[in-house]
Amino acid sequence: MSPAFSNLPQAPLQSLTLPWLDQAGVEVAVLRLDLVDPLLSGNKWFKLRHHLHEARAAGAPGLISLGGDHSNHLHALAAAGKRFGFATAGLLRGHPRDTPTVRDLQDLGMALHWLGYGGYRARHEPGFWDSWQARYPGWHCIPEGGGGLAGAQGCGLIVEQGRTQLAAVGWDDYDAWWLAAGTGTTLAGIVLAEAGRHPVHGALAVPREHGAPQNVAALAGARGYVLHEACRGGFARIDDELLAFIDETERQTALPLEAVYTGKALMALREQAAAGRFAPGTRLIFLHTGGLQGRRGYL
Ligand SMILES: *Cc1c(COP(=O)(O)O)cnc(C)c1O
Repeated sequence: MSPAFSNLPQAPLQSLTLPWLDQAGVEVAVLRLDLVDPLLSGNKWFKLRHHLHEARAAGAPGLISLGGDHSNHLHALAAAGKRFGFATAGLLRGHPRDTPTVRDLQDLGMALHWLGYGGYRARHEPGFWDSWQARYPGWHCIPEGGGGLAGAQGCGLIVEQGRTQLAAVGWDDYDAWWLAAGTGTTLAGIVLAEAGRHPVHGALAVPREHGAPQNVAALAGARGYVLHEACRGGFARIDDELLAFIDETERQTALPLEAVYTGKALMALREQAAAGRFAPGTRLIFLHTGGLQGRRGYL
C-alpha cells in the first residue's frame, strides 16, 4: 500500500449511551468512519483504498465509476482523485440534476456524464465499458459503489481500527459488529478480516432482491454473519418514524445519522435489542459508515 493512501487519520471509537440500549443491557461503541476526514470519509473511503492502489500500480491517469446524484461513492471518488492526483470521471444515473452532491463533484473536478435511466441500466451488459475505455484510455474503472474483492479487502482496516481502540471505551473484547449493508461489500470485508473471531450483523438498507446476500456469499462465503431486514419499504425510502428516530438520537447522543443507511441500521438494532436478541452484557461495535454528505438532499 502506497503511504499516500494510508495516511488519513483513523476512525475514532466512542461509547454510545441510549435509553433503549440501557434497557436491554447492551453496550455499544460506535466506530466513527464519518470522522476520518471532512471529504474522504465513510466506508466508501475504505472500499476505495485497494482500487486506488491498483490504479496507481497500473499507472492509470484517472479513475472512472458510476452512481446516482446523491452518491456517497462518487463523492469519495472525486475527493480521492483530487487528493491523490488522479483525474476522475463519473457516469451518472438519470438526467442532469443540480444537487449538493453534484455540485461537489464538479467542484472537485470530476467530469460528469449523464447516462439517462436506460443507459445506466445497461451498465451490466457486456461491452458497456468499451466506449468509456476508448474515451478515457488507461483509466481505472471501479465497479458501482466501489465493490468487488478489492473493495471488500480495503475494509479489513476497519476491523483493525476497531480492535486497536477497545481500551478507549474500556473494553478488552467485543461480541459482534453491527452495520448497514447495501451491496454488502463492506460487511464481506469485515467478515473476511474477522475470520470467524466475531460475528457480523448486517442491517439491509436495500431490499435483499438487489443481491446483497449473493454478493456477500461470493466474497466471504456462508459463515460469520447474519443479515437483518432494515430497508423500511425500499432503498432510500424515508418515513416519519425514521426521521423522528434520527432526530431523537441526535438529541440524546449528538451522533449524526443519515436516513438511507446509518439511521435505518441503528433503528434495526433498536428493534432487535428490544426483542431480546442480545443477552445483557453483550458488547457491540456499531459501524458508522458515514454518508452524511448525502443528507443535504433531504434533511
Ligand atoms: C454505500 C453505503 C453503505 C453500504 O455499503 P455496502 O458496502 O454497499 O454494503 C452503508 N452506509 C453508507 C453510509 C454508505 O454510503
